[in-house]
Formats: sequence, structure tokens, C-alpha cells
Amino acid sequence: MEQHVLVIFPHPDDETFGCGGTIAQFTQTGVPVTYVCATLGQMGRNMGKPFFATRESLPNIREAELEEACQALGIQRLIKLGLRDKTIEFEDPELLSARIEQILQEVRPSLVLTHYPGYAVHPDHNALGEVTILAISRLPVQERPMVYVHAFARDCQNRLGPPDIINDISALSEKKLAAIRAHRSQSQVFFPRIANGQTKKPSSKNSLSHMLERESFWTYHFS
Ligand SMILES: [Zn+2]
Repeated sequence: MEQHVLVIFPHPDDETFGCGGTIAQFTQTGVPVTYVCATLGQMGRNMGKPFFATRESLPNIREAELEEACQALGIQRLIKLGLRDKTIEFEDPELLSARIEQILQEVRPSLVLTHYPGYAVHPDHNALGEVTILAISRLPVQERPMVYVHAFARDCQNRLGPPDIINDISALSEKKLAAIRAHRSQSQVFFPRIANGQTKKPSSKNSLSHMLERESFWTYHFS
């Protein structure tokens, strides 16, 4: 059993869409989960459908959505780094990795979930994943947590092989759904029927039903 799981992603909703079921599995069995969320997704283009956010109100709205999603998933502690959305690649990697290192020392996780640098599409995902891997690589080998990385670049399976961790989350789908609904400004655009509560559980073999059944990760190997 894990001692403590540390989740490190740049945007409110990365924790839910990518690994909400896995997080809920941990919290349900009493494993504490801390989420480091680097930005408030303030540069996002989705403002709800119909719009309920504006460029000015979006950060506050997304912060409230994030807190609600964390509650739905049983996340014990949320650490907001307060970085600006879409700018993580321009942060000083040394300063940022020092911050992550400090959190690692404090939380002492047995497992870290983050994005696979180079395979996670969005520059923020790749940059924060890279800095996180850098911070972990600086820990003495015997103190390093396990690292599961999330990847979804179109060609990632060709380049990395299949993910070695395929987690069946179907028993936690209600919790993941609750977290998806909490991220209203985003899910109303991506999954309108789910966000508006019209669908309890999608039955067709579409990407949504897939994301309520399985979450996949690669174990990161430090060279
Ligand atoms: Zn993201």
C-alpha cells in the first residue's frame, strides 16, 4: 500500500480527466493524496456552455471548480503554485525544481503522478513533468518515490510501447463523474451530456466511456 501519493499537474482538471479514478482509488483505501496544481488555467478558452465565465472571472471560477473536484476525489491537500497558465516552459527550471524538491521533502510521497515529459502534448504539461522528474532525480536513489507518468501524444504508444499500468477504475466512475462535473467550465464544452447530468454512465464505446473505465500510466525509469 502507498504511504502518500503526490500528484503534480499544471492545470485544474488534469487531475480529474487523466487520473481521477486512480486518485479516488487511493483516497478510498485511506491513502493520503496531495495535489500540486501549478496554475489556475486562467488562459483557457472554454468559458462554459452557455458561457458563464469571462476572461476576468475565469481564474476564480476555475479555482472553485478545482476545490470542488478535489473534494469529490477525496484529495487531502491542495497546493497551488500560483504560476501563470501557458507560461511554465518560460519559468526558470532550477527555481521551479527547487520548489518541487521542497514539497517532495515535506510530503515524502511513495508515489508521484505527473505528465511524461515530451509525450504530454501541451507545453505546460511537458515543462512541469520535466521539472518534476528533475527534482525527483536529485533525491538520493533510496529516497526516490515511484513515478507514474501520464502521456497522450498521438504517437506515444509507438514510441514508448504500451503503458505498463492499466488501472481498472470502473468501480470509481461515479466519483470521477462528480469531479468531471465539478470542472463545469471545461466539461460543459467537452462532455455536455455528462456535465448537465443527462447521462449517468455512457454506454457506447466512445472515448468518454473509456475514460470512466481505465486510466493508463507508464512507470518512469530514471537512467
Ligand atoms: Zn492540462
